[in-house]
Amino acid sequence: MAKRLITDADVRGKRVLCRCDFNVPMADGEITDDTRIRAALPTTTWLLDHDARLILCSHLGRPKGKVVKKLSLAPVAKRLSQLLDRKVPLADGVVGKQVRKEVDKLGKGDALLLENLRFEPGEEANDPAFAQKLADLCDIYVNDAFGAAHRAHASTEGVARLVPSYIGFLMTKEIETLSRLREAPEPPYLAIVGGAKVSDKLDVLTELVTQVDALLIGGGMANTFLLAQGKEVGKSLVERDQVDNARGVIERARNREVDLGLPTDVVVAPDIDGPPTIKPVDDVRPNEAIYDIGPETARVFADRIRQARTIFWNGPLGVAEQDQFAHGTSVVAEAVAKADGFTVIGGGDSVAAIEALDLADRIDHISTGGGASLEFLEGKTLPGVAAIPDAGEDGS
Ligand code: ADP
Ligand code: MG
Repeated sequence: MAKRLITDADVRGKRVLCRCDFNVPMADGEITDDTRIRAALPTTTWLLDHDARLILCSHLGRPKGKVVKKLSLAPVAKRLSQLLDRKVPLADGVVGKQVRKEVDKLGKGDALLLENLRFEPGEEANDPAFAQKLADLCDIYVNDAFGAAHRAHASTEGVARLVPSYIGFLMTKEIETLSRLREAPEPPYLAIVGGAKVSDKLDVLTELVTQVDALLIGGGMANTFLLAQGKEVGKSLVERDQVDNARGVIERARNREVDLGLPTDVVVAPDIDGPPTIKPVDDVRPNEAIYDIGPETARVFADRIRQARTIFWNGPLGVAEQDQFAHGTSVVAEAVAKADGFTVIGGGDSVAAIEALDLADRIDHISTGGGASLEFLEGKTLPGVAAIPDAGEDGS
């Protein structure tokens, strides 16, 4: 069921609290990637063009309920001012009297950014009293923070139940695209899952294997699968307590006749500083660690990607932050970019990899929510979405 969208709301002159995901990567006080801020522009621009008095809010990092100066949203306010071509001041706090004064001063088509929501302990605790303080600031609530929708926090869940609430354009695009993968993927549907750990992604693996026609596994997590097949993985990152779970995934794939792809060759090194050696997966020595899929595996994976009609990718295939172990991830990224099928990528490190290769514009959908996109594909209900009434409901 579709959710109530901002276009269903009369926002003219109203104080609109808009939860965005401005949790951007930063280095030395500078934003290193503003993709998430740009992704929120359709909603923010629409609200301002419709004369809302706009109160923007987001979390940044993990200040754990305390004011941490380094995690101030000041750089985001600055970037927003540039992108929206109008002054977006940063409020003096999240809630409270001073903030209230700043909100009262907002004219139609003005915007204000609240300070980092997680400076307040009530945010992550979804404290009803804090949610009420957020609700008191506004007439209408809009959730456009897909990346935070899998968390039941005061600004994503609590407040939505206290004022008339709607979703924004980014949220709706994410839900529609990911629903297409869950409900009507054109076959063959192929998923590529990499990244560090099986334990992080066991739920999504277990679910995906019931949905896809092919599942390719790489990255650190492939090592646990190799171990489950009785192979030597040396000093590789491996989770011995996940071997049974890996076996379960292999078993499910076999029962459903899912084409399961694991590395047949790998890039190993004595440690992360190299030097790298390519070898068949059966020749790994006890003093070596696997840091990437090998070129033959990458070629086979790329071939299968070419043949798929629906493709979901999460997680790098090797330690892609380091050039000598980035080859597998690059080959897969290029294959996904070139694929004729419908392509979706989720996950912070996978998205960073595709962006570093300048291929982002060749992907049909890049999810702004790593964890949220995985939970959605697992079939879980996202609390931030569930809290918004369905389209057509009054709910005010
Ligand atoms: P995403 O953010 O795309 O969901 P993850 O966070 O799950 O991806 O995984 C990314 C991490 O996995 C990276 O830090 C990368 O170095 C690590 N990784 C990938 N392959 C290996 C490997 N073979 N050994 C150790 N770490 C790996
Ligand atoms: Mg990551």
